[in-house]
Amino acid sequence: MAGVSYPFSAPVSQTLFDRAAAVTPGGVNSPVRAFRAVGGTPRFMVSGTGPYLTDADGREYVDLVCSWGPMILGHAHPQVVAAVQEAVARGTSFGTPGEGEVALAEEIVARVEPVEQVRLVSSGTEATMSAIRLARGFTGRAKVIKFAGCYHGHVDALLAAAGSGVATFGLPDTPGVTGAQAGDTIVLPYNDLEAVHEAFHAYPGEIACVITEASPGNMGVVPPLPGFNEGLKTACAQNGALFISDEVMTGFRVSKEGWYGIDRVKPDLMTFGKVMGGGFPAAAFGGRADVMAHLAPAGPVYQAGTLSGNPVATAAGLAQLRLLDDAAYAKVNAVSEEIRGLVTEALAKEGVAHRLQTAGNMFSVFFTDKDVTDYAAARTQEAFRYTAFFHSMLSQGVYLPPSAFESWFVSTTHDEAAVGRIAAALPAAARAAAQATEGEK
Ligand SMILES: *Cc1c(COP(=O)(O)O)cnc(C)c1O
Repeated sequence: MAGVSYPFSAPVSQTLFDRAAAVTPGGVNSPVRAFRAVGGTPRFMVSGTGPYLTDADGREYVDLVCSWGPMILGHAHPQVVAAVQEAVARGTSFGTPGEGEVALAEEIVARVEPVEQVRLVSSGTEATMSAIRLARGFTGRAKVIKFAGCYHGHVDALLAAAGSGVATFGLPDTPGVTGAQAGDTIVLPYNDLEAVHEAFHAYPGEIACVITEASPGNMGVVPPLPGFNEGLKTACAQNGALFISDEVMTGFRVSKEGWYGIDRVKPDLMTFGKVMGGGFPAAAFGGRADVMAHLAPAGPVYQAGTLSGNPVATAAGLAQLRLLDDAAYAKVNAVSEEIRGLVTEALAKEGVAHRLQTAGNMFSVFFTDKDVTDYAAARTQEAFRYTAFFHSMLSQGVYLPPSAFESWFVSTTHDEAAVGRIAAALPAAARAAAQATEGEK
């Protein structure tokens, strides 16, 4: 689509964004939504159906963000909507136990073998925060190993060299996190087992846990090298630390059992969110029963939540998980592969150096000629090319993550028509990426 003005104007979204900026810092409730990394006006979405989103200006987009992962069945899936409507009509929150949360916990325990017991929470951040507290309470140790570029939500202790928005904005750290809060966090390069062994050697008997994204998707998609997760597990076991696999992004997305279904390394604790909430705020952490037994009220480690196990959220999550059978994953995997092929083909045709990296059906493009195995390498990519690529796709009705450091997501509803629109948009976007120069807005 030559001649498209760039960035494409979106007057109604712009008006909404101006209103938002007056009452909300930066005009958004989660930083990456603000388009700061790519420039231009964030699109205010008013509705979604299947693979499509419609913005406030009435423009339709093929959605390759899927709410950052949760909408694996597409938007407004009729059976999820029906389950939510039924739940809402019965009341929205009771502050008591309810059957829905039991059913969702049973579904998670049935699917993911290492999870013997699970506690429901409302966000991935809460899940990782609670898992770390539990690991510290269980081991009686303070230190936590995390990896640069891995994002585990905005938990104070884990906002050191984190991915996602922190990667997007290149913040080395964040003000508001004190030395005491981050002081027990050891940040190591991803995929570097030697560094892990050295850390255990340097702090004998002090490390409570290693937390890692099961397969990182918050610095772009950077899968673990063969044996990396296994090596972490072994190092933890040998040193009396817990191995926490953060599957908030990958859980129930890349397979029925999440990344564990692909890379069968048994963690002590796991965290979930995104897909399991069906588009509602529901998340979880779980794992070994003897560890989970330390959680209140069974044990001394406190953890709670007014809306934990909320009946509407659990109904949505349960409906979504029950629809996610082998056929559904086969469909998501196939469409992911098809789109990846189209992206590579378009970029190769324009001679754009890139790496399309994959983890199950998650993928992202790095504008570099080297494989990306850690955060340092991810940051050497020519992100300015992504900006040009992103805006070209956006102007042609394809909604990509507004940052070069995020995974792309597809759903069971990305059909031939949706893929056709992506295919039609790619040649111009690849050309825009090829022609982009550093410093260009
Ligand atoms: C999204 C994400 C989180 C945080 O979840 P929120 O629901 O946004 O708090 C934690 N860990 C990983 C791996 C994530 O992708």
